[in-house]
Order: sequence, then structure tokens, then C-alpha cells
Amino acid sequence: MPELPEVETIAQDLQTLILDKEIASVSVKWERIIFCPTPDEFRRLLVGRRIVSISRRGKYLMAQLSDGNYLLVHLRMTGQLLTSPPAEKDRKHVHVIFEFADGTSLYYADLRKFGRFYLVSDTQPLLGGLGPEPLSPSFSADELHKRLSKRKQRIKPLLLDQHFIAGLGNIYVDESLHRAKIHPLRRASELSREETVCLYDSIVAILSAAIASRGTTLSDYRDAKGNLGSHQNDLQVFRKAGQPCPRCGHPIERLVVAQRGTYICPACQPLQAQDTANCDSHSLLVSI
Ligand SMILES: [Zn+2]
Repeated sequence: MPELPEVETIAQDLQTLILDKEIASVSVKWERIIFCPTPDEFRRLLVGRRIVSISRRGKYLMAQLSDGNYLLVHLRMTGQLLTSPPAEKDRKHVHVIFEFADGTSLYYADLRKFGRFYLVSDTQPLLGGLGPEPLSPSFSADELHKRLSKRKQRIKPLLLDQHFIAGLGNIYVDESLHRAKIHPLRRASELSREETVCLYDSIVAILSAAIASRGTTLSDYRDAKGNLGSHQNDLQVFRKAGQPCPRCGHPIERLVVAQRGTYICPACQPLQAQDTANCDSHSLLVSI
């Protein structure tokens, strides 16, 4: 499922591909994709509007329109925004088509149909509860430590909670915890400051590397031009059960944490807190 790096890649693509374009028509083939307003209102309010900015918040893509409204999209499991129509065999999965005044189009395809569009005048009800952006200059290891120290939950479910920190999902949480040598079931408030610094550095390094490689394509993710990302080639543990840990050689194991398949190296990520943090995050930078 698209997480922060994938949504960021699509947002950056769309900034060069559809910014300033005027929407000439909107075709909705699967109406439940439109969460609000009604599909008829959705079409009526969009036609004739220009796209004045494109950005990302958490896993939401956001386009500001010339009338001041915002079009938000959450791709959920298998949503794709494509500037060219998908291959013939996949056309049945196209549920919304935007045609622009210059003759180009944007296609929303979604195999599982869980994605949602929102057309709103105020983004606060949808985005106001999201946690901080992990790559924002205003977010820091100190801030993460302060927030973790107040929480008794286990670290993996907390990092998946979009109200705690925005944009992380199953892939990047597992990769970040492995890099920081933290077991996903450790209690958040029990992480030392050194471990938290290591976790923060790991999250930032992994998200940045994944954006640089245009996201992770394990199955459905495509950028706005229909291309695959390449960060799947750099994953260390995610969906690699039985394979040797790239750091220590111990076989990677699969657990279930918060009902999510979870991949760890039991040698690098012990459940008991270690006496001293042994972060080697920086030495791993060369391999990611
Ligand atoms: Zn290991």
C-alpha cells in the first residue's frame, strides 16, 4: 500500500504533469470512490476549475483548486493516479477520469476500490488530527522522544498510528525498526534517548532513500507515469522471512503485530532493552 514515499513521488510527478491545468470534464464510473460530496456535486464543482497547487500530507494527496476548494485523494491499498490509460487488461479498474482543457487526462485506477476522493472547502476535519510529518524540519529526535515517553503502547502499532506520526505504514515501520535495532513489541516509553535518536535517524534516512528511488513497488504501486519504484531492491527485512539478515546473517522471522505481518531479525532486534544503544544507522547509509 502506498506510504509517504510513494505518495510524495506521485505528488512531485503531478506538480510537473497537471499543475495549472483546467478540468474540462469528470467521469465517475464507481461512485463509492467519491466519499464527499455526492458524485454529481463532485463533477459540478470540479468542471471549469484550475489546479493551483499539489502537495502531500501524511498519505493524502492534495490539490488546491482555483475556487479555493481542495481535492484530496487517499490511495489506500491499490489506488493509482496515472497520466496515461493503463494497459487494456487493466482498464476495468479505472474508476474516475479527469479530462483537462488541453486534451490530456488523469486516470484513477484501483483494483480493490478502497481508495477515496474528498472535495472539501476546509481540510482541517480530514487532516487536522494527523501527527507530525517525519521529514519536516520542525520534527526532531527530541520531539519524537518527548512524544514516545508519554506513550505506553508497543512501538510498532504506535508508529503505524497516523495520529502519532503521519505517513508511515507497514513497510517503512519494519525497515526503520530493523535499522534502529528495536523490537516492534518494545514499549514506546521504555525506549532510551539513544534508541530514539537512532529510530529518528533511521526513519528519516529510509524515507529519504525511498523517495530518491521513487517508492517501493511490491505489487500495484506505480508513479504518475505508470513506472515502478525501485526501493524494493533496498529492503532489508520486509517480506524476507527465512532470508539472512543483511547485517548479521541470522534468518529473518515473520511475526504478527497489530494484525500486520511483521518482519524482524531476532538477533539484531531483541525484545529486551539493551544496556547501551548500539545504533549503527550511519554505517548503513552506504548500503541503502
Ligand atoms: Zn540481524
